[in-house]
Amino acid sequence: MSLPAEIFIDKAYIDGQWRDAERRFSVTNPATSETLASVPDLSADDARAAVAAAEAAWPAWRRQPAKQRAALLRAWFDAIMAHQESLARLMTLEQGKPLAESRGEVAYGASFVEFYAEEAKRMAGETLPSHGADKRILVFREPIGVVAAITPWNFPLAMITRKCAPALAAGCPVVIKPAEATPLTALALARLAEQVGFPAGVLNVVTASRPAEIGEVLTTDPRVRKVSFTGSTPVGKKLLAQCAGTVKKASMELGGNAPFIVFDDADLDAAVEGAVASKYRNSGQTCVCTNRLLVQSGVYDAFVDKLAARVAQLKVGNGLDDGVAQGPLINPAAVDKVQSHIADALAKGARLVCGGEPHALGGTFFQPTVIADVTDAMRVAREETFGPLAPVFRFDTDDQAIAMANATEFGLAAYFYARDYRRIWHVMEGLEYGMVAVNEGILSTELAPFGGVKESGLGREGSHHGLDEFTELKYVCVGGL
Ligand code: NAD
Repeated sequence: MSLPAEIFIDKAYIDGQWRDAERRFSVTNPATSETLASVPDLSADDARAAVAAAEAAWPAWRRQPAKQRAALLRAWFDAIMAHQESLARLMTLEQGKPLAESRGEVAYGASFVEFYAEEAKRMAGETLPSHGADKRILVFREPIGVVAAITPWNFPLAMITRKCAPALAAGCPVVIKPAEATPLTALALARLAEQVGFPAGVLNVVTASRPAEIGEVLTTDPRVRKVSFTGSTPVGKKLLAQCAGTVKKASMELGGNAPFIVFDDADLDAAVEGAVASKYRNSGQTCVCTNRLLVQSGVYDAFVDKLAARVAQLKVGNGLDDGVAQGPLINPAAVDKVQSHIADALAKGARLVCGGEPHALGGTFFQPTVIADVTDAMRVAREETFGPLAPVFRFDTDDQAIAMANATEFGLAAYFYARDYRRIWHVMEGLEYGMVAVNEGILSTELAPFGGVKESGLGREGSHHGLDEFTELKYVCVGGL
């Protein structure tokens, strides 16, 4: 399968120039282990050059009328959607997810660009009642400045647009450091941004195989005013500590340990469909994917049977092939983690219901797996598996379910299926999570604030709240009137 020439580019993008480097690193197709391409392996100096370019582009970019910035964002949205198919193919090639999911991600990622193109025109300040007859209080909403966006491999397109669209809309230039496994989608996005006319320096992409080196520049350079990170909690904590030195504003979209609770009054078939969508999408490699299924005793056996029957229908294979529901995992380390969680649970008394082994296709393909009789003594209770493993826990009472769901340092997404409206309110209010889905297995949309509490993160992306992350309030006291 060849790379889509109309969007493919294998150079980094700094100050409106496509840059090469002496050192390059390879990008691999996880479905075939073939090398797809190589991209420049940039250094700390290159990252500083990108920050300098962004800083230089900032004054003109922030002064552009919001309507012009909005028009550019809208043109970028149109270009992304016009290339939906080739972007989706590129994403499946470097990331592995099924083509249908890649198409969905392109549309989802583009929706942030469309939304913030509209929102750019609504970045209003305010006047407030003043504290003296001769004074007035004005509140300006200003762009924060150069933004560094550090993104993961599991959503190679949407995690970039979810940060960059609101930053650009607010009048901030961006330096993007994409994940080393999936730089090609990031570069394709930059190519489309260049084509629609974003000025040089406003959007930069720094590709690198040694992220710590680039991260150090982006979190310590005083010209960077905001770091927006999506990735694992340990790396997020490190970056947050590094940001402290220059008191940088930071947003952190980190790991999760999502509970999916099925109560005994739930529509079990709907719950199974929701669980499958939430658990096995992207081979279980999403931050909001179900990590623990908590099922009430009265429906436990029926739910496990229905889930296993449905999971057995999931077709595993190369994401480019028709009908594939689950692609490969991103790398061998991801397979090791799934296997270690299964082995730990089985050794401590869990029951294997289906799957449990690497897939016959080899490589990093893994069987969609369900294990039952899981307890909180097992590693899956506390750690994010990030793979196609559904561990099913048992509970008796509503309060027990809420306590189990909250017994984690994470707090990103939670799901539950129930019908009784009192129960729905009680559980919805009791869950310590940034996002709760009731009788739904998928909740992401550009229209809602996405983000977590506790160690799942700081800040929100999407909706009008997403713009706040890239603005500062300036209070002006006008006196002597
Ligand atoms: P990761 O933390 O390993 O990497 C994320 C990004 O950080 C990559 O670009 C990587 O190159 C970079 N990075 C790694 N070490 C760095 C360092 N020392 N300094 C600077 N940058 C560094 O995470 P990942 O494996 O790519 O992604 C999976 C994780 O991301 C999971 O924990 C998942 O839950 C989380 N995630 C969260 C959200 C969310 O919105 N909350 C969304 C997607 C993924």
